[in-house]
Amino acid sequence: MGLQFAIEPSPAPASPERLAEILGAPGFGRLFSDHMVTARWTEERGWHDARVHAYGPLQLDPATQVFHYGQSIFEGFKAYAQPDGSIATFRPEANAERFIRSAARLALPALLVDDFVAAADLLVRQDAAWVPTAAETSLYLRPFMMATEVGLGVRPANDVTFMIIASPAGSYFTGGVRPVTIWLSEDYTRAAPGGTGAAKCAGNYAASLVAQQEAIDNGCEQVAFLDAVERRWVEELGGMNIWFVLDDGTLVTPELTGSILEGVTRDTIVTLAGDLGHDVEERRIDVDEWRKGVETGRITEVFACGTAAVITSVGTLRWRGGEASLPTATPVAAAVRNALVGIQHGVAPDTHGWLHPVP
Ligand SMILES: *Cc1c(COP(=O)(O)O)cnc(C)c1O
Repeated sequence: MGLQFAIEPSPAPASPERLAEILGAPGFGRLFSDHMVTARWTEERGWHDARVHAYGPLQLDPATQVFHYGQSIFEGFKAYAQPDGSIATFRPEANAERFIRSAARLALPALLVDDFVAAADLLVRQDAAWVPTAAETSLYLRPFMMATEVGLGVRPANDVTFMIIASPAGSYFTGGVRPVTIWLSEDYTRAAPGGTGAAKCAGNYAASLVAQQEAIDNGCEQVAFLDAVERRWVEELGGMNIWFVLDDGTLVTPELTGSILEGVTRDTIVTLAGDLGHDVEERRIDVDEWRKGVETGRITEVFACGTAAVITSVGTLRWRGGEASLPTATPVAAAVRNALVGIQHGVAPDTHGWLHPVP
């Protein structure tokens, strides 16, 4: 039998007026639904004390391990209102499986796929009123797991907390969907062989922030990272995978090397692009191939993909001393985006069985 969750409804849910106001302009990751999921793990008891309960602050001892050593992982996926009034999440099992791989890399305990999916289902059901229905909106789910043992000894925690919080989501980038400018990070790398690049861990983000700041200082929205060994192979952005469209219609994405995060959106596009008639290549791509390809017209589009922003066109790659800009027309990114968003929102047939109906 799977983990049993106690359901403890919030005594003070948002009023219908407040909820309508929030769902009218959700933004991204600023406002959270009425409930959250919590479960605890210890070696002796395994997972226990699983609950869906009122959203609210945590009280943690200052010596809690996660504050000091960053033993922490997370996930992100979305629940979408369907045309028939039901709610579906998109490939939650893929996130659950990645969560298990991330946990293994960070010496955290595994949470079974069925328990992960059930926890998300219960939260979405409890906060169904928080799933926005306007076009392109969703309820973003943020599962995470962290070391909550108290003490400064450096070792894998024997007291771990799993949580899910939920946030109504509109468009990820302020200013809506438009091509972004990317900064090529030449001083900082995000992940090295043998490191944690393929794990969705908090520390990867902490390590990327200085490069992100450099991007902003140079008028860019996001950073592109190169491999840490040769400093020439394009890996990904700080939180999104990357795709290149060639002039013969081929779609190229960097192959998974162990230092690239295995995006669910990336994996989905491998299949979807094939459905749309594109050849798909997963291979290494040199940053000079990017720069020259833009100049010669061999590369016609570049786009980034991830759950939060779905698909975002990259208009310009900028580096210290130069930049390469693509034409603003992005028909391939738009077609892939429409195909993906159509399935997620239940307006295109889900031929691959990616939608998970929330019971
Ligand atoms: C989460 C994440 C992605 C995108 O993964 P999706 O499953 O598509 O949301 C890409 N790169 C990094 C570093 C990430 O953390």
